[in-house]
Amino acid sequence: MIIQDYISRELKYGAHNYHPLPVVLNKGEGVFVYDVEGKRYFDFLSGYSALSQGHCHPKIVNALKRQADILTLTSRAFHCDLLGEFMEKACNFFGYDKLLPMNTGAEAVETALKLARRWGYEVKGVPMNKAKIAVCEDNFHGRTITIISMSTDPSSYGGFGPFTEGFVKIPYNNADALAEVMTDKNIVGFLVEPIQGEAGVAVPSDGYLWKCYEICKQNNALFIADEVQSGIARTGKLIACDWEGVRPDILILGKALSGGITPVSAVFADDEIMLTVKAGEHGSTYGGNPLACAVGIAALDVVKDENLAENAQKMGEIFRNEISNINHKMIVQVRGKGLLNAVVTEPQEHIKAWDICLKLKERGLLAKPTHDNIIRFTPPLIITEKQMREAIQIIKEVFEDI
Ligand code: PLP
Repeated sequence: MIIQDYISRELKYGAHNYHPLPVVLNKGEGVFVYDVEGKRYFDFLSGYSALSQGHCHPKIVNALKRQADILTLTSRAFHCDLLGEFMEKACNFFGYDKLLPMNTGAEAVETALKLARRWGYEVKGVPMNKAKIAVCEDNFHGRTITIISMSTDPSSYGGFGPFTEGFVKIPYNNADALAEVMTDKNIVGFLVEPIQGEAGVAVPSDGYLWKCYEICKQNNALFIADEVQSGIARTGKLIACDWEGVRPDILILGKALSGGITPVSAVFADDEIMLTVKAGEHGSTYGGNPLACAVGIAALDVVKDENLAENAQKMGEIFRNEISNINHKMIVQVRGKGLLNAVVTEPQEHIKAWDICLKLKERGLLAKPTHDNIIRFTPPLIITEKQMREAIQIIKEVFEDI
C-alpha cells in the first residue's frame, strides 16, 4: 500500500474530527518515529506531551507485557494487588494524601470538577446546586460536554449546546479578574492550566499562579491545576506549579502518567477534599486497572531514574536560545518552559504554520500547528543534547528555505 491508501482508508471509515499531517507511522523508538516506508522522524509532538518518556520505553513496555499475562482488569468491584502500590507511589511522588484513578485527561478534569463541587457543598457550605467554578478564557481541558461548556473557543463548543452551568470565565494571566469574581461566595474553585498548551503554549507572567493561589486561600476556594499537559517533568519541574512553589489543592494529571502506553489519568487531593466522594458516587470501569497500575508505576520510575525534569529544563534552554537566534521575519516569538515550547509565526500569504510543519516533515521532524500561526515543539523528555542539536538544525534549515 502506498501512503495515500492508508490515509484514504482512514478518511473513508473514520470520523473527520482530526486533520493529521500526511504521514503514516508504524514504529516508534525513543525520540523517533518511522513511517511505513521506513523514513525516520524526530517526534516533536510526543502524543501531545504523553510520550515524555519516549516511544516504547523498554521499562514501561516490559511492565505492560508482564502484567498483560497475569491480570488486566478487575474493575473496582474487587481489590487488586497493584492498585495500592501505584496509588502509594504516585501520592508520595506528588505529595498528596490520596488519588482517584481515571483513564483520560478529560475524565480526570470531570472528576476534579465533581470533587470541587462536592467539597463546596459539604465543607464550604455553599447552598445546594449553586456552586460555581472560575475558569480561564482560551482554556483547553478536553472534549466532554461539561468541559466544552467552559471553553471560549467556538471550534470546541460551537454547535454542541446546551451547556453545563456553573462556570465563570475570566481572562487568563489576570489575577485581578480572579479577585473580582471571588466576591461571589458560591465560587468553590479556580481551574487553571499553569501554561495553556492548546492555546499555543501561553506562559503567564511570573507570580500569576502564586497570586491566584493566595486569592483562592483568602476566599476559601480550591486552586485546581490542570497539569495534564504541563505536569510530570514536561516544564523542567515535576509539575509546572512548582515553578512558583504553589501546591494545588486539586492536581489533575494524565498523558505522561503512562508514558504514552495506555490511558492513565489521576486526580490528587488531600482527605478533606477526596473523602467527600463516597462509594458508588464516582468511578470508571477501567480506572485504576492492573495494567494501568503496572504501567503507571514504571512510568513514574522512569521520570525519576532518568532525571527527566532536569533534562527537560536543560534541553529547553538550548532549544529556546537556538531558535530565538534564527533571524527570520516569520518568527515573532519563541516561548515556553522546559520542553513545552512554541514558535509564534507571522503567517505570510503563501506560507502558514501548517506549511512549515509540512516542510519540517519532509526534513524528518514532526510538529503540529496549534491555531493558524503557532507551532508547538514538545519532544520526548529523554532527548539528548546531540539529538536536540540535530533537530534544531532541521528547524533552522526549514526557515532558511522559506
Ligand atoms: N487538559 C489539558 C491541559 C490538555 O492539554 C488535554 C489534552 O490535550 C486534556 C485535559 C484532555 O486530555 P485527554 O485528551 O486525555 O482527554
